[in-house]
Amino acid sequence: MSTTEFVAGPDGKLEKLRLVEVKRDDTGRFAPIEGTEREIPAQLVLLAMGFVGPEKGKLLTDLGVDLDERGNVARDGRYMTNVEGVFSAGDMGRGQSLVVWAIAEGRAAAAGVDAYLTGRDVLPVPVAPTDRPIA
Ligand SMILES: Cc1cc2nc3c(=O)[nH]c(=O)nc-3n(C[C@H](O)[C@H](O)[C@H](O)COP(=O)(O)OP(=O)(O)OC[C@H]3O[C@@H](n4cnc5c(N)ncnc54)[C@H](O)[C@@H]3O)c2cc1C
Repeated sequence: MSTTEFVAGPDGKLEKLRLVEVKRDDTGRFAPIEGTEREIPAQLVLLAMGFVGPEKGKLLTDLGVDLDERGNVARDGRYMTNVEGVFSAGDMGRGQSLVVWAIAEGRAAAAGVDAYLTGRDVLPVPVAPTDRPIA
């Protein structure tokens, strides 16, 4: 579902939400499904929009890591950023996702770190940075 509008009552206070069902289009974006618009009553809305990428603060700028086109920290196939010896895993590199991906990426990145430090390539790599959920 996607919220399209917060609707106020005569007193100017929130009264209801307008919603529409969505589906992914060919480009991977969510597109509204015609005929699925509806309204539900609402008195209070809490916006919890924490999924806007890693904070572009001192840590990232001091390190000098490159960002990808979505604003996440770019990394190579072994989770290393453009800065040698600096690795990125989980939401920082993948973007907002799920705990299972963060765990799998953490393990895979650890294998990348181990290979970088020791020159051997023996630890399991559960997921590649480019792997995506099976649709
Ligand atoms: C509201 C909300 C609900 C969610 N619900 C679910 C759910 O139901 N199921 C699910 O699977 N996933 C859920 N997720 C997603 C899940 O929490 C993340 O995908 C996962 O936590 C990512 O793990 P991570 O280790 O990559 O990053 P994080 O868990 O964000 O860990 C990053 C850590 O780095 C620390 N940090 C940041 N900057 C610095 C710094 N400069 N120096 C030192 N430390 C620093 C942070 O304090 C944090 O502890 C939810 C996320 C949110 C925000």
